[in-house]
Formats: sequence, structure tokens, C-alpha cells
Amino acid sequence: MRDVNEELMDIVCCPVDKADLELSAETRDGDEIIEGTLTCTECGAVYPIEDGIPNLLPPDMRETSA
Ligand SMILES: [Zn+2]
Repeated sequence: MRDVNEELMDIVCCPVDKADLELSAETRDGDEIIEGTLTCTECGAVYPIEDGIPNLLPPDMRETSA
């Protein structure tokens, strides 16, 4: 079952290959996704959603040692 924030899904795509992202919501507030992940259907990269904001930095540009 897909219960996604359609507006969000319209504006985001994988920054690497522009492919569609699959949304997995962990925490939501009404229609809004607060926490979850976006997974690229093409390359499999996973982008976190934190505080309702998708982090679409390519994985190799992220700070890995915070
Ligand atoms: Zn991708």
C-alpha cells in the first residue's frame, strides 16, 4: 500500500540518475512525512527524511563521520 506525500514525490527524484524514489515513511503527521527514507528505484541509494525535509545529497557527498 502506498500512502505517500504526493506533492513531495512530484518534486524529488534521485540526484544521481533522476530516477523515481520510493518513499518509506516511519513517522508522519497527517499527510506530512516527518521521518522516513527515500530509496532510488534505479541505483538503490537511500536518502533520509528528517524533520519533514528530504536529504537528497548524493551518498558520497554526505558527512559520514558526524
Ligand atoms: Zn538513483
